[in-house]
Amino acid sequence: MAKYYVGIDVGGTSAKIGLVNEKGEIERKEQVQTLKSQDWHEIIDEFIRPVRAWFDEKIDIVGIGLGAPGFFNKNTGCLHNCENIPGLINAPFVEYMKQQFPVPVYADNDATCAAIGEHIFGAGRKYTDYLMVTVGTGIGGGLILNDKVYRGRDGYAGELGHVIAVPDGKRCTCGNKGCIESYASATSIIERVRDGIKKGYITKSYADVKPEEINAKIVWDKARAGCQYSKDAIDSAARYLGMFLGGIVNLLNIQAIIIGGGVAVEADFIERIKYFTCQSAWHTFTQNLDVVAAELKNNAGIIGAASLVLEAQK
Ligand SMILES: [Zn+2]
Repeated sequence: MAKYYVGIDVGGTSAKIGLVNEKGEIERKEQVQTLKSQDWHEIIDEFIRPVRAWFDEKIDIVGIGLGAPGFFNKNTGCLHNCENIPGLINAPFVEYMKQQFPVPVYADNDATCAAIGEHIFGAGRKYTDYLMVTVGTGIGGGLILNDKVYRGRDGYAGELGHVIAVPDGKRCTCGNKGCIESYASATSIIERVRDGIKKGYITKSYADVKPEEINAKIVWDKARAGCQYSKDAIDSAARYLGMFLGGIVNLLNIQAIIIGGGVAVEADFIERIKYFTCQSAWHTFTQNLDVVAAELKNNAGIIGAASLVLEAQK
């Protein structure tokens, strides 16, 4: 009988729940809203409703994995820091889910899940040592070392978005100044363009769009259409990120950096990140370094979360 894994991808406003087969394909998918005002029982009950229906159908489910945007403590089994869904902070939701189903339940940070998903089903299959970087609203990371996920003492390892890249730099959403996320996330690219419009030096190329409606896809489209300001905004992010990643390459001597998250997987962006990484790291370390796009695209969150089950049973 075919075996299945449940992946729950928790986002700021909604969660996607998927039934993943042994090949890493999603056979069923549901989406539910997550409201900031909900308490954790209400949030989790929404997630487990479709899972219960799949169990009732006698589908052979091996385990359940949940990925969330926050620091997941492997010792306490709780999320600490989860700004988008405060209801889940410090809540014993893993224990609660274990009581509902006759299978193991795992949870982790979403970027760590993405790293594991790539390792089992995507671009990470051919590497034993790599860093996964997710570039989106923020910047996340996950580490695979010696063919295993590296979580560190508490489970937070790889959380690189809030490493300081610029001393006394821009104020970050976390309260610190100069985090890499403030310089290289998709949000920072959009902000750079909006800033140019506000200051009046970007005019014609963004005349057809309201500043508040600019998203990363629009910036990339404009760059492809020849807008130099858009190219510069993207290139600036690639430079900060590449310089930062060069330090990690020197520290860990990894085989690859896998870049995931929305439009960040555009080939030209990855090429530029690689260029700046190679500029900042030692040549001996970068001569065989791969900087590649993630292979799991739209459903990376669900597949990554489901992969927690496979990783735990390796
Ligand atoms: Zn920060």
